[in-house]
Amino acid sequence: MVVDPTLMCELLVGLGVVDVVGVEERSNGSLWVTVRTRSERPVCDVCGGRVWSKGDRPVGLVDLPVFGRPVRLWWRKRRWMCADPSCGVGSFVEQDLSVAPQRALLTSRAGRWATWQVGRLGRTVAEVAEELGCDWHTVNREVIRWGDALLEADIDRFGAVEAVGVDETLFWREGKWKTKQWCTSVVDVRSRQLLDIVPGRTAESAASWFRDQSTEWCKAIRWAVLDMSGPYQVAYDKVLPHADQVADPFHVVRLANHSVDLVRRRVQNETLGHRGRKSDPLYRIRRLLVMAHERVDDRGKNRIQGLLRAGDPYGEVRDAWYAKESVRDIYQIGDPKLAAEFTQQLSGDLQDRSLPPETQRLGRTIARWATQITNWHLSAVTNGPTEGLNNLIKRIKRAAFGFRNFANYRIRALLYAGKPNWQLLATITPP
Ligand SMILES: [Zn+2]
Repeated sequence: MVVDPTLMCELLVGLGVVDVVGVEERSNGSLWVTVRTRSERPVCDVCGGRVWSKGDRPVGLVDLPVFGRPVRLWWRKRRWMCADPSCGVGSFVEQDLSVAPQRALLTSRAGRWATWQVGRLGRTVAEVAEELGCDWHTVNREVIRWGDALLEADIDRFGAVEAVGVDETLFWREGKWKTKQWCTSVVDVRSRQLLDIVPGRTAESAASWFRDQSTEWCKAIRWAVLDMSGPYQVAYDKVLPHADQVADPFHVVRLANHSVDLVRRRVQNETLGHRGRKSDPLYRIRRLLVMAHERVDDRGKNRIQGLLRAGDPYGEVRDAWYAKESVRDIYQIGDPKLAAEFTQQLSGDLQDRSLPPETQRLGRTIARWATQITNWHLSAVTNGPTEGLNNLIKRIKRAAFGFRNFANYRIRALLYAGKPNWQLLATITPP
């Protein structure tokens, strides 16, 4: 057991290389701990000659809380000046990365801790800032700084990927007109690892990311998942021509739901002469109509029947609803060959002239994407994980408003969902 007061102090502060000069209790309950490093007098960096002391300059750093109290570490940084006037180095301030990196607002240990809390555990910056007793911007800046350094150092963050998925995410609405700013996330859909996020949702934005990867890495990709959007298809065609494309089931079903919605709105308008109102029969079942059939209970089914009788005189909404359920049936089939046949047949049936034009259009889309749709039956990969990541990213976004800056947004998302090697955090320091 240590009983020497000086050593006890050092042990409590736990930095090893410093003398504790004083401790002050502030009126707000926080502790100010003043320290000075114990290092020997250095020699001049440039000429290797003697240096003169120019006193010290205190620098305040947010440190980890101790015994439930927030702590400010006041580091009296020594200033030195080269004794040789012809050297030209002038004066310089001591640096010690084990205490804090240059220009840091948090000590090294507090910076690492905050980065882990926010990046890995997904806590909000506000929460962590409150615990440290400092403001939001201080924590945000340091998390981004340490996080960036971690991602830079983690050059082997992902290995070979067999199935990749790209998906668009809205990351910010900008300016007076709330112009949507989109980005594209690239995901290993088997391991659910976010590989990267790039700005934009064009073919070029997705393609350029793949071009930055090695040829061997791209060649190892067997499946390429996408929503049914042209740009991503173009990108895959260009950069992953060997990979088989898979249409994400979620997006296929969403498209079928959307076509039910379109028919319902049109019929509503044609029969009643206005957009949906609370009392309109079709409006009242708008949610039931796009629900999976097996999830609708008997009461709901009766409701659908009754209200369709009231508001769908030519059975168009009913037809669109059957079409949607048939599209969902694609995913009930296990056998790839049967699924391909079924999809082919269905896409033709849906284009029947007797069906609503919206349903016919759905049929044409399914015909165009039939190969990608039924590639799901061969690969069993979906963008589901990517969608999950998008929700998670939305949460991060809600929790912190600092994401107008795309680079910061990318770092936060990659820390959370990119599976960096967190053990590296102990070994790095930000530039
Ligand atoms: Zn010098």
